[in-house]
Amino acid sequence: MIENETRVNILLVDDEPANLLALEAVLESLGQNLVKTSSGVEALRHLIDKDFAVILLDVMMPGMDGFETAELIRQRDRNRHTPIIFLTAIGKTETAMFQGYALGAIDYMVKPFDPGVLRSKVSVLVDIYLKTQEVIRLNDELRLENENRKRTEEELRRSEEMLKNLNANLEARVAKRTAAVEESSRQLTRINEELEQFVYASSHDLQEPLRTMTSFLELIERRNRDKLDEDSKRFIEFAVKSAEHMRSLINGLLEYSRVTVKEKKFKNVDCNLVVKRVLEQLYASLQESGGKVECLPLPEVYGEPLLLGQLFQNLIGNALKFRNELPPRVEVGAEKREREWLFWVKDNGIGIEPRFFQQIFRLFQRLHSRAEYPGAGLGLAVCRKTVELHGGKIWCESELEKGSSFYFTIPIYDPFSRLADEESNLETVPESKKSEKRV
Ligand code: ADP
Repeated sequence: MIENETRVNILLVDDEPANLLALEAVLESLGQNLVKTSSGVEALRHLIDKDFAVILLDVMMPGMDGFETAELIRQRDRNRHTPIIFLTAIGKTETAMFQGYALGAIDYMVKPFDPGVLRSKVSVLVDIYLKTQEVIRLNDELRLENENRKRTEEELRRSEEMLKNLNANLEARVAKRTAAVEESSRQLTRINEELEQFVYASSHDLQEPLRTMTSFLELIERRNRDKLDEDSKRFIEFAVKSAEHMRSLINGLLEYSRVTVKEKKFKNVDCNLVVKRVLEQLYASLQESGGKVECLPLPEVYGEPLLLGQLFQNLIGNALKFRNELPPRVEVGAEKREREWLFWVKDNGIGIEPRFFQQIFRLFQRLHSRAEYPGAGLGLAVCRKTVELHGGKIWCESELEKGSSFYFTIPIYDPFSRLADEESNLETVPESKKSEKRV
């Protein structure tokens, strides 16, 4: 049994109800939907809203005969190719047959016809109709798929276009930003240089009047030694001490402002030798405090020897200075990391509260009075500037009363990246300045 949805329509047109019944009896076993009509007009009405796989059309009908009906059927686009089998009771004349074929009949059967032959002809036409429908359906699907693919391709193209635009936009913005950052960095460098120049010049200029002040105070004191009372002598002494302190501050500032690569030369520096020299300079302090410095093997780094010497001197000097009642024990060491050397200077001194870990690296920041521990509060600021100049970082870890550990890093020298850096720098330096290029 054929399923309902695959049943196709077959139109039977005959003015004789008996003939229609006979046709129905013959074709019933095909299991299709048989639509019976008794006139050409009625047949045309059915064709308006239904598709038919085949039309069986009686030629001799009152009113509109089969040929006229076929002519009108063929005029409709939808039925231009619907197969028509003419049925006639009259003797087959060639003229009538030609008329039928001219109207697009695919067959011409004379009554009484062989039911088996008619059934198999109709069955073949139903098959062809079903296959044609399938081809149309597949065609539609293909067309739809094609349209979908084209739409997807179009969307893809549009997205790519959008992405390209976005990328171009982004690149332009990044370039603009980079240019702005470079400009600010240039300005910052210039301002920094001016500031350093100012600090250097003013520190230098301040020393002269200070020296004069001290000399005159000493002169007053010397000339009037007998005339001055004890208070006046003490006041002069305070004034001289303050001037000395001021000189040490100014010297510290000068030292700080000298931490720059401007005239310095970077080279490979053996840190073992640097620390050895520092310890020689700290000999008196070591003797006086009964301190010991253990220096583990240190690496060679790419840096400025004098600045590195100052760095170790400040850190080891502090480790000896900020001691408690125990004789100071200091360890200097280093270990290799992926791209840098990590150095440390550890002591067993008074320690530092965590809230001061950042503050102590700023200019003039001290946690104690000069009476407790002498100093100007510049040593660690100089250390930070030196380390940053070498491309590293410096920080402190400590626990009050348990000692402090100062760490700093120095990048491992990579001649290739340095070369690349220098080349890219050279490109931005005007020809006239290239000879002044520093390391
Ligand atoms: P100065 O030594 O002249 O005071 P620094 O800049 O070297 O200046 O140090 C700033 C402050 O940090 C010191 O006054 C001291 O309070 C603290 N400090 C530095 N090193 C140590 C240390 N090893 N142990 C304890 N405190 C320290």
